[in-house]
Amino acid sequence: MIILARNLITGDGATLLKDGAVVVDKGKIRDVGPAREVVGRYPGESVVDYGDATILPGLFDMHVHLGYYYSQPDLANYDDFLIAYYAAKQAEIALTLGITTVRDLSSPHNLCKQLRLAGEKGYVAVPRIIHTDAGICMSGGHGHTDGIEQVDGADNIRAAIRRQRRDGADWIKLLTSHRSNIPEFTQEELEAAVDECHRRNIKTAVHAGTQPSIEMCINAGFDTIEHGTFMTVEQAEKMAQKGQAWTPTITAYTYLYEYCLKIKEEGGDLSNPVAAAAARDCDYFGPAAFAYRDNFKKLYDTGVTVLAGSDMVLYGAPPLPINRELAYMVEYGITPLEAIRTATANPARVLGLDGVTGQLVKGLEADVLVVEGDAAKDITALNHVKCVYLGGKIVYQR
Ligand SMILES: [Zn+2]
Repeated sequence: MIILARNLITGDGATLLKDGAVVVDKGKIRDVGPAREVVGRYPGESVVDYGDATILPGLFDMHVHLGYYYSQPDLANYDDFLIAYYAAKQAEIALTLGITTVRDLSSPHNLCKQLRLAGEKGYVAVPRIIHTDAGICMSGGHGHTDGIEQVDGADNIRAAIRRQRRDGADWIKLLTSHRSNIPEFTQEELEAAVDECHRRNIKTAVHAGTQPSIEMCINAGFDTIEHGTFMTVEQAEKMAQKGQAWTPTITAYTYLYEYCLKIKEEGGDLSNPVAAAAARDCDYFGPAAFAYRDNFKKLYDTGVTVLAGSDMVLYGAPPLPINRELAYMVEYGITPLEAIRTATANPARVLGLDGVTGQLVKGLEADVLVVEGDAAKDITALNHVKCVYLGGKIVYQR
């Protein structure tokens, strides 16, 4: 099968082909290039022409919580069965948005492992899933009311990582800051976590939004810093040098800021625990949203690897808004092609999947997204998904 469209973005942050073609064979990309060169090489091959659309790699969302049911208003109904249905629905939504790979950074124990297995068995349609177990925080630390495992002391952290690894976690996630400048884990605990992961050749992500937690986590050597909300240019430079990546999650914090502003001004349903927390934390989300707006481009320009992650867990909010995340990046100063790279080539490299997916390159899996319009000119083209292929199979079609 040959897929054609007016625009073709390969995902490397720079390459845009006009009138491009992707040849898909047995689930893989057999060829990519200008249609006038490619089509003639495959006489008799079926052709699907998407006209004025854009073809690009299937997207990654590097910060999801497929099983985050904690903000549901009818929380008491959520037993393991309902949580699994909830997660399957989130996975289905991901596919409709063109997300063909997710990194889940904390869902209930074993949920992602089993969801991936259910996908392999064909019970449900899911994107490629790379996952941690439940996140790890200190006793009383960030997220401890939302299923995060509470662990104290370097040795106990090592033991928790060993258990999570035994039970199938691909990555390890720690959380070490909340809404203040008080760090949670000690430097010794953070370093033990990184050492335990790296000596076993696995990677580790950390939630660190404030100072000095961000600095402590960069020094400890985490592979990805999640949020990094109040990161400085010097810190981003240091991350670039050390090969650490940054998942800003602009949308989640900006959405929460707008949400809590609305609650402050108009009042709202505070029986929803996440809404109540948002209202309490409004003083945090304002400066957080402004920090992303004012600093994103400066931090990006240091050369630090940026990863697109949505981290949207609020009930009623648009789920997995990776299109919105890329739109914020463009609004804050980078090009659409650069923004798309944060959801394609960059995450593939960080996850060690660059030999599998993440770009439209010969030999990789045919994870392909087709959107209406010219995404290289107008990033909001990603709001209009026409078709999504996962390993060459259509998993969503409008
Ligand atoms: Zn998160």
